[in-house]
Amino acid sequence: MIIVLKQGCSKKTIDAIMKHVEKLGFSPHAIIGVERTVIGAVGDDRERHVLEVLEANPCVEKLVPILQPYKLASKQIRKEPSVIKVKGASFGGSHFGVIAGPCSVESEKQIVETAIKVKKAGARMLRGGAFKPRTSPYSFQGLEREGLKLLVKAREESGLPFVTEVINPEDVELVGEYTDMLQIGARNVQNFSLLRRAGKFGKPILLKRGMSTTIQEWLMSAEYVLSEGCRNVILCERGIRTFENATRNTLDISAVPVIHERSHLPIIIDPSHAAGVKNYIAPLSYAAMACGADGLIVEVHPEPLKAMCDGPQSLDIPEFIALMKKLKSLSAFNKKKL
Ligand code: PEP
Ligand code: MN
Repeated sequence: MIIVLKQGCSKKTIDAIMKHVEKLGFSPHAIIGVERTVIGAVGDDRERHVLEVLEANPCVEKLVPILQPYKLASKQIRKEPSVIKVKGASFGGSHFGVIAGPCSVESEKQIVETAIKVKKAGARMLRGGAFKPRTSPYSFQGLEREGLKLLVKAREESGLPFVTEVINPEDVELVGEYTDMLQIGARNVQNFSLLRRAGKFGKPILLKRGMSTTIQEWLMSAEYVLSEGCRNVILCERGIRTFENATRNTLDISAVPVIHERSHLPIIIDPSHAAGVKNYIAPLSYAAMACGADGLIVEVHPEPLKAMCDGPQSLDIPEFIALMKKLKSLSAFNKKKL
């Protein structure tokens, strides 16, 4: 249920209504908008009639039921797009944030050199996997804690904040202690205990779409994180599985306008895992920018031929510089700041 408050409510009144909502068995989430404040009361929908007593409060304008199964993620609760800030990087609204870096952290030289060079080209965040979810148990699984330390070193040397994946619920605190944003990958989009634990941790979350997840299921996963109190969620479309096998996955570019219609959360595109082939990364990135996406996450490696993971889809540094140049020239189209 959305509790719409009258304009000019004091903080004390808002707190008192939040307490009342809690007493009625729902969790209150205050959403401070430009025009007015609303309180989202989330809980068991079958019991929502108990909230009707709040209509008697002189500061409450009206109660509006949230029609979608996802509540805090829905556009109904917040009309304006959420702008998610991770240190100097912004995603959403008029901001187009670019995240770049290798699939996995391999060595100090590799990650520090990449961080410095992608920053110079205009990236706002660094990516790099320390814990890798691999299809084969025999493939490189990541440098784990050592990888996290190297990411911290790269952040110190470059000034770029970083995002890295957490695979297990038990590792949320370990990864969360180092990283600026937790990535929850395609394979874990419905790992509900991971979603809850990451949502409780409090750092921003990059939530990838699963390869066979519908948009509604994906938004329900975002709801798990939001309902734990995490407000800073960025969605990432990374391609879905279809009958087509010329590309690794099929980029569902239509997810961008659909998400923007249904949710206030920003959505970025991962052309690397969608295409799986480096020649397709630039055209898919331009499509992302043209259709109003809020950013990109791109795999970049100083020597893609030597990459331990996802080399064929990784851009080298000059290719990334060229991509950023063209994106800058396209950014006026959607009035997005790169
Ligand atoms: C990744 O970003 O390194 C990754 C494994 O992506 P996905 O979860 O989308 O496959
Ligand atoms: Mn990868």
